[in-house]
Amino acid sequence: MKTLFINADPEAFNPECLTDCGEIIKCGGLVAFPTETVYGLGADGTNDVAVKKIFEAKGRPQNNPLILHFASVEDCAAFAECDERFFALADAFMPGPLTVVLPSKGKCAPSVTAGLDSVAVRVPIHPVARELIRLSGKPIAAPSANISGKPSPTLAEHVSADLDGVIDAIIDGGACSVGLESTIVKLDENGATLLRPGGITLEMLISVLGDVAVAPEVLAPPEPGAVPLSPGMLLKHYAPNAPLYLVRADSDVKMSEFFFEASKDAENAVICFDGFAPKQSNVYYIGDKNDEFEHARRLFDLLRVADTNGAKRIYAPMPKRDGMGLALQNRMLRAAAFRIKDL
Ligand code: AMP
Ligand code: MG
Repeated sequence: MKTLFINADPEAFNPECLTDCGEIIKCGGLVAFPTETVYGLGADGTNDVAVKKIFEAKGRPQNNPLILHFASVEDCAAFAECDERFFALADAFMPGPLTVVLPSKGKCAPSVTAGLDSVAVRVPIHPVARELIRLSGKPIAAPSANISGKPSPTLAEHVSADLDGVIDAIIDGGACSVGLESTIVKLDENGATLLRPGGITLEMLISVLGDVAVAPEVLAPPEPGAVPLSPGMLLKHYAPNAPLYLVRADSDVKMSEFFFEASKDAENAVICFDGFAPKQSNVYYIGDKNDEFEHARRLFDLLRVADTNGAKRIYAPMPKRDGMGLALQNRMLRAAAFRIKDL
């Protein structure tokens, strides 16, 4: 199929440029659109035939449920049982990069929840995403707009590299400001559980909810045969074609010596903090050592760039565990299939 390309600069777009895309969603088609987290691949979340097309286009396993995106917090309540904990989180962090898993009212297309009795809801803050949802008049079911298993798209060109000719439209809204998928927190009778860390950090969730458990699969590989709380938490995910190794060192000097040596082999790609290895064509700076928000914005693009430039192996620093570091570590462990190099 011929994919329609739409330019929508989030600072200065004319909502009319999204009219066709709203119609595509209403008619059961697929539109890739920018959000503050990563690009989403959207379909009408009440149309099961349309939602099934998402799984087909991405090659996504049928048992991995999707997030329902709404234009407002109030709209979530028609599809999910929203309690006071949800509204407290919504007051603090919505619209924004937070997804909440709640009991489902059974109103969305069955494929959205992959047979679960819970549903994941989110209200993005990105103006293009909000306008698209408003125009379509439906909640938009959307996972990340990449081939399943690959790094998530943070630029429209990442979406076209994976899905051009396969989906109806791609809206280019520039770079995503967070760069990692939304935080997912589940609320049920057992309390609050962090299923996936993201731009709304664990510390931020705790500041509102008091107590938040962390699902074991956030930082550990899933036990063979165990059923993860979030079906998307696979052993390998977000992965570049070249094997990625996470480098862990107890000093910056050791880390930069390792990266310097690794960069001498042109078949290696080195993703490192600014200045940790001399700048050359196979060395990619991910930002200042202490700026994890910048690392998050750049990570998925750099993994794709290293692949495009033909790297045979990729080395990157193991992130810390607090703040945004937890989300980085969660994604990078999976992108590396848990390969860690201790110095
Ligand atoms: P993606 O948007 O591609 O990052 O995928 C959405 C993520 O949300 C997946 O990892 C799912 O496992 C998770 N998710 C969606 N719905 C639920 C749910 N009802 N319960 C737990 N996790 C969910
Ligand atoms: Mg995804």
